[in-house]
Amino acid sequence: MTIPETNKPDTVKTEKRQWMYPVVRQGKLYRYRSWLSYFFLVLFFAGPYLRIHGNPVFLFNIMERRFVILGQVFWPQDFFLFVLGMLALVVGIVLFTIAFGRIFCGWICPQTIFMEMVFRKIEIWIEGDAKQRRKLDEGPWTTEKKFKKSSKHILFMLLSFIIANTFLAYITGSENLFKIVTEPVAEHLSGFVSIWIFTGVFYLVYSQAREIVCTVICPYGRLQGVFTDRHTLMVAYNYLRGEPRGKRSRQQIEAPKGDCVDCGLCVDVCPTGIDIRQGTQLECINCTACIDACNQVMEKINREINLIGFYSEETITKKTKPRFTARMAGYSSVMFLLFSVLAYFVLQRSDIDLTVLRSAGLLYQEQPGGYISNIYNADIINKTNRSQHISLVADDPAIKIKYIQPTGTLAKEESNKITFFLLVPASHIHSVKTDIKLKAVQGNKVLGNATTTFIGPIN
Ligand code: SF4
Ligand code: SF4
Repeated sequence: MTIPETNKPDTVKTEKRQWMYPVVRQGKLYRYRSWLSYFFLVLFFAGPYLRIHGNPVFLFNIMERRFVILGQVFWPQDFFLFVLGMLALVVGIVLFTIAFGRIFCGWICPQTIFMEMVFRKIEIWIEGDAKQRRKLDEGPWTTEKKFKKSSKHILFMLLSFIIANTFLAYITGSENLFKIVTEPVAEHLSGFVSIWIFTGVFYLVYSQAREIVCTVICPYGRLQGVFTDRHTLMVAYNYLRGEPRGKRSRQQIEAPKGDCVDCGLCVDVCPTGIDIRQGTQLECINCTACIDACNQVMEKINREINLIGFYSEETITKKTKPRFTARMAGYSSVMFLLFSVLAYFVLQRSDIDLTVLRSAGLLYQEQPGGYISNIYNADIINKTNRSQHISLVADDPAIKIKYIQPTGTLAKEESNKITFFLLVPASHIHSVKTDIKLKAVQGNKVLGNATTTFIGPIN
């Protein structure tokens, strides 16, 4: 976004980190943000215990390479679906950023939700408002300061511990988390260590790193400049309306100046400490706190609200309505296509995964009754959350199957390796290699298919 001459930076950024003391002001958007955050917090903490058809809603078990998304179990064999899903998600995020900038960061990102709606509120509750917090930090280590600081950090650590447990539940599953917590430490050493590592990381993020996660560490924030353009709606200062800015007394309120009274409230409330009047900056997480603050000022001085609002460069300079651009249409089409392909493959997924391979190095054997046999190994994975009694049948009813290990009953999400002979009547063999189609069935229901090769003598 172009920065007008009148809107030059009035603060100099230094290399040394400045500790932030953002003022929290209630406003319409802050209220909406709070409710949305509470909804996400309930979802986050309840998530590992919610079930769809007996499966967790989300599970990202990297160690066992087992993923559950909205109750659907994905196995390593479904990796292409995972890649497709990730691709669709990335395109969706790019599209969302092109249209709405970094609104995700301010309103949906767990980092902001925990920082601003949980940890910041605890800090305010214990140490007071922005002024009181700054005074406490700058003051000597009195008994009161020691008490407040230790209470805050104990609470931060406790909360980080709870978040770490929930986070681990999304990786190992709530049942395994329960075992880690209740059974002897020696039996779950890696789980126990993970909880404490996560606790330490969360504690450092929310007590020390804070806005640095958004402004320096997070790659999404740094990519913002690549995705956004002059049509992107984001939190912006309407400099055409606001400048020339200037302080005024109540009597001077009608003085021929811009609407910005240079009160500095938009800077005071900013959790990343920037001045939105300097134009779009990487540090802006679109939390909308400055919109609330400025609207309250505008209401007080009887000016139109939204001097800071959701604007694109185009809507400010040309005073037009936001529009759906060709770039947005292009990304929407790609995203739609990817999600359609993904939906198709998810709906086509079979209940089991069947892989059949002829035993390497073995030729055919002649069997009594005019049959020729080959030996096979099969991998069967039950992808469902219920037991399945699986047996194999060939498409050609003349072909017999003789098991060395029977298929038996597969418990939910269990896999089994079996070995069996295929017996083909010699009269059915017309080439050295014949493709044989096999079905895995339970009763009359076909659960999966596989094709394998049969080797035999030509008649
Ligand atoms: S500039 Fe406004 S929207 Fe951006 S981070 Fe600061 S307060 Fe939030
Ligand atoms: S809150 Fe509004 S009026 Fe006050 S300095 Fe910021 S932009 Fe200007």
